[in-house]
Amino acid sequence: CGIFGIFNHAEASNLTYLGLYALQHRGQESCGIVSSDGTSLHAHKSMGLVADVFGNQEIFKSLPGKSAIGHVRYSTTGSSVIKNVQPIMVDYSRGSIAVAHNGNIVNAQIIKDELEAYGSIFQTTMDTEIIVHLLATSKANSLLDRISDSLNRIKGAYCLLFLTETRMVAIRDPNGFRPLCLGKLGSSYVVASESCALDLIDAEFIREIEPGEVIIITKDGLTSYFPLQKAEPTPCIFEFVYFARPDSYIFGKNVYQVRKEMGRQLAREHKVDADIVIPIPDSGVPSALGYAEESGIRFELGLIRNHYVGRTFIEPQQAIRHFGVKIKLNPVRDVLKDKRVVVIDDSIVRGTTSRKIVKMIRNAGAKEVHVRISSPPTSYPCYYGIDTPNRKELISSSHSIDEIRKYITADTLGYLSEDGLIGSVGTENTGYCRACFTGSYPVKFPRLGIAPQLD
Ligand code: 5GP
Ligand code: SF4
Ligand code: MG
Repeated sequence: CGIFGIFNHAEASNLTYLGLYALQHRGQESCGIVSSDGTSLHAHKSMGLVADVFGNQEIFKSLPGKSAIGHVRYSTTGSSVIKNVQPIMVDYSRGSIAVAHNGNIVNAQIIKDELEAYGSIFQTTMDTEIIVHLLATSKANSLLDRISDSLNRIKGAYCLLFLTETRMVAIRDPNGFRPLCLGKLGSSYVVASESCALDLIDAEFIREIEPGEVIIITKDGLTSYFPLQKAEPTPCIFEFVYFARPDSYIFGKNVYQVRKEMGRQLAREHKVDADIVIPIPDSGVPSALGYAEESGIRFELGLIRNHYVGRTFIEPQQAIRHFGVKIKLNPVRDVLKDKRVVVIDDSIVRGTTSRKIVKMIRNAGAKEVHVRISSPPTSYPCYYGIDTPNRKELISSSHSIDEIRKYITADTLGYLSEDGLIGSVGTENTGYCRACFTGSYPVKFPRLGIAPQLD
């Protein structure tokens, strides 16, 4: 998911719309904005893409006020239905509060059971709602104490934005799984999942919000606190591999440069004699450039992507046949014909898309197809906010690299090593979470059988 918030700006909800638009890659299922006019909160949210949900200027009349938070959703917990669209807004004894969450809480079910036993009634199936209930039922007096009370009970990954009538609060969990940054636009503070959202609205990047940091913004300014139990930071390395936008700066690095280095390292680890290097657009582009640079093999665009196909595209029900990946990608025959081709992608999840793409490249006349993946095999699911399928569906959890090569019908297949990945990201922080590659989960699950199933 992606979150964005702005405090103290006359165009707060309009700017939040733009910020969410820049974060669209982090979630395409649904989106929403909640604004505050100083005395009450206003919400507009719906299923669909940002431009579709907020395309009508009239909507902003219903989102008045000088502060706003927004959310783009891609579901990791809770099904994809309208009641699960964020930000969630609730009224309780102390007023109203809205929350937008990026991440995944691993002890959600246990806390939910407890809260329900004490009479809480949940409106959604999202783990995010638990945070709201904890806040609402906390007996502490100050907002900061209620937040630390509540958050010290939850485990997992969370970047949060809260909006009350008069305050905006930004929080990054002690492990710092997901990125979150702070910016300034004139005298307004801005918070966003990725810096690309600050760029779009011409806000200045100030710094990243630190793991475990709670920032409270009021009309008197910004105050930073560290009230949460400390942990060794474990930012998500997969943000660099796939999730974040290449123009963003996250965890102190530019994503594009990191991806390009992954490609160079991939070329050093898995050389092959070939005529051209092509990316699987868009996620494979920077690493394909790096591979081409390091190997000296020419970079070409052998597959063209239709940029208007969202993840939500549904083929016509009565289709004569299944068009599948062809809806999104089409080969350039003149580029591929009679060539020995190196194809670069960021990851193989189920293997089904990769298999179709290799066939497509061969059908376009390629003589050889060598697949190179700019990360290690994805053998384990993520429980910290990235929507990977369960273990059984991850092809590398039960197949050797050679079996995967055969399945996707490639001539050769090479994955970036774990050391190569760490080296590309930089060795200053070796604490990156890379559990989807290693199975070593930095935040444990409280009760087996309820939260994540490890096999
Ligand atoms: P597969 O061959 O496993 O079917 O698909 C691999 C493709 O899925 C890669 O191109 C990769 O960019 C993409 N991918 C990796 N992780 C995710 C994810 O979390 N969500 C989506 N939609 N695609 C992903
Ligand atoms: Fe990121 Fe993988 Fe860790 Fe999930 S398991 S937080 S995707 S590195
Ligand atoms: Mg891809």
